Amino acid sequence: MDNQRNEPRIGFYVCHCGTNIAGMVDCPAVAQYVSRLPNVVLSRDYKYMCSDPGQELIQQDIREHRLNRIVVASCSPLLHEKTFRGATEKGGLNPFFFHMVNIREHDSWVHTDKQAATEKAKSLAHAAIHRVRFHKPLEVKQVPIHPAVLVVGGGIAGIHAAMTLANAGKKVYLVEREPSIGGHMAKFDKTFPTLDCAACILTPKMSEVGAHPNITLWTYSEAMKMEGYVGNYTVTIRHKPRYIIEDACVGCLECIDACVYKQPKFFDEFNMGLGKRKPVYIPFPQATPQVVLIDPETCLNLKTGKCKKTCVEACADRKAIDFTQKETFSEIKVGAIIVATGFKSFDAQRIPQYGYGTYPNVYTALEIERLVNASGPTGGEVVLRDGKKPKSIGIIHCVGSRDHKTNRWCSRVCCMYSMKLAHLLKEHTEAEVYSFYIDMRTPGKGYEEFYGKLLDEGVQFVRGRVGEVTDWAFTKEEEGKLVIRVEDTLAGYVRRIPVDMVVLATGLEPQADAQEVRRRFNMSCGTEGFFLERHPKLAPVNTFTDGILLAGCCQGPKDIPDTVAQAGAAAAEALVLIDKGHIEQEPNTAFIHEEDCSGCKSCIPLCPYSAILFNEETRKAIINQALCKGCGTCVASCPSGSIEQNLFDDEEIFSEIEGVLAYE
Ligand SMILES: Cc1cc2nc3c(=O)[nH]c(=O)nc-3n(C[C@H](O)[C@H](O)[C@H](O)COP(=O)(O)OP(=O)(O)OC[C@H]3O[C@@H](n4cnc5c(N)ncnc54)[C@H](O)[C@@H]3O)c2cc1C
Repeated sequence: MDNQRNEPRIGFYVCHCGTNIAGMVDCPAVAQYVSRLPNVVLSRDYKYMCSDPGQELIQQDIREHRLNRIVVASCSPLLHEKTFRGATEKGGLNPFFFHMVNIREHDSWVHTDKQAATEKAKSLAHAAIHRVRFHKPLEVKQVPIHPAVLVVGGGIAGIHAAMTLANAGKKVYLVEREPSIGGHMAKFDKTFPTLDCAACILTPKMSEVGAHPNITLWTYSEAMKMEGYVGNYTVTIRHKPRYIIEDACVGCLECIDACVYKQPKFFDEFNMGLGKRKPVYIPFPQATPQVVLIDPETCLNLKTGKCKKTCVEACADRKAIDFTQKETFSEIKVGAIIVATGFKSFDAQRIPQYGYGTYPNVYTALEIERLVNASGPTGGEVVLRDGKKPKSIGIIHCVGSRDHKTNRWCSRVCCMYSMKLAHLLKEHTEAEVYSFYIDMRTPGKGYEEFYGKLLDEGVQFVRGRVGEVTDWAFTKEEEGKLVIRVEDTLAGYVRRIPVDMVVLATGLEPQADAQEVRRRFNMSCGTEGFFLERHPKLAPVNTFTDGILLAGCCQGPKDIPDTVAQAGAAAAEALVLIDKGHIEQEPNTAFIHEEDCSGCKSCIPLCPYSAILFNEETRKAIINQALCKGCGTCVASCPSGSIEQNLFDDEEIFSEIEGVLAYE
């Protein structure tokens, strides 16, 4: 340890990173330059510093040359700072006597002039050598972790993540804002490419979730507020009133039969408005939990107070109906949170030329999912609005996807679900089915084979983006039909194809409240609005906030197999975190020099982690070290300069700046 307090003895290493750095930076020249700087005992260039031999080299040098400061010039600290701190510690030094210089992302990858890039690498190395002399030993603190996990969103992603964790013996809270779990998958009849029945594979999982002793399932609820930090989050959950006492309801549905509305009359959300429901209802037969709810917007009693309340009479034995219910709140403590809030379908009315909302027989794919479903509004019979069977059907791909005017991204599942619907529609109606596609995208196990099957079944694939759907008939054949106008790019001419029914394969979009949810859980969104993963390849289910994980389509469009795989990965990440029992807190936190604090409070609202409080007695600000994430916002904003940050204190920062400026 004494060695660490003595005159700095610096070891410097410059990494070639194969040709990633060495292709643009003359690494031996950088090493040679640094070897002449004061306090540098040893300076080396090496092919891959992150490799085991590279790390062993650091450890060996620390011992043999009594080094007490280490600088590595290589890639981004995001990738390997931990690796090199580990090597420094194994060599016998405090890990914070290490400093990293990024000469890859900040230098070799962004320059084209080798000489200039080499000069830049030297100046950055010069700054690091200046800075590392002032590094102080710091200690990583351990904070215990709360072993429960919150899963937000009960689609297939949330269900799978919750089950994985619960089966591993962990306490899980699953919060779903709709009255039942199941998400989009609960609406499907069959799933591509195997065409297995969606309900048959989903319902058992939903029931297991509902009955699992380790899962607390809260439907019709939302996570409203999150406070705390990784391992110790406090979340406030809002429970909307169902006007039904959940524990008392057995799902006998007698109250629905007894409702004063003799016939279902109101917009049925689950059936996309293609069916009707009563004010007291259950969203779908397999809903989990099997608990009815009362819609305050349409219930006569809740709206006017003038109703015979026949539902209450029907439930006299159980007394499950409670019109006095108000919204309630629960507060839970969890160590990690998995966000699995899914997607929303593109609003087809945003492309008026396709006629959705204008022509009754233009449907969205989700509506067709309900129409072909045996438990759907027509019992699985595919009929037009006038009750007739369609004889010809056109399915238009990429509605709201791969389009600069709407969404630029490919929604990944539309080609496949369009083909699934083509198969099902043909099966139900024996109609002539046309599929209008731009490019056929089938990258998945068994997907291309499914396309082949559809070709064999006689679906007519027309390559070209549809221009418009109209009811203007130019010929007798077009009379009474919807006419799809498309430039067939394989045949090389514009075609007009008359059909009875049009299906719009609408793309996948971020949820409407994605920005709000992002703020609530301290996450980021990509430019298109889906939640952003920490690293697309190396941390695809992590976010930039530790302990907040992503699963399913809230991170980007994907099919069910990928959703389930990602949900499993998110559950595994949560397990890794909470099974450890504690988290290690980076010591790069901010601290206040009390004597200099003027008590102006300007730092308090700026802290994104709510880590700063005000001590009314001393009239000074205080930083909660457990909450501080070391972002440095308060340090930069403090008008009296009374806040400093470990690992970024004034001496370290100014010496680094001097180092860059002093380079010649
Ligand atoms: C028409 C269509 C057909 C498809 N067919 C297939 C197919 O055959 N095979 C296939 O592999 N894939 C198919 N897909 C893709 C499939 O739908 C998705 O892969 C899957 O639904 C993703 O699941 P998820 O749980 O991520 O999202 P979702 O299914 O959207 O579930 C998200 C859940 O989170 C809830 N939620 C949202 N916000 C909150 C909040 N703030 N608080 C609490 N809860 C919230 C929602 O209510 C919902 O229950 C199809 C997609 C479409 C549009």
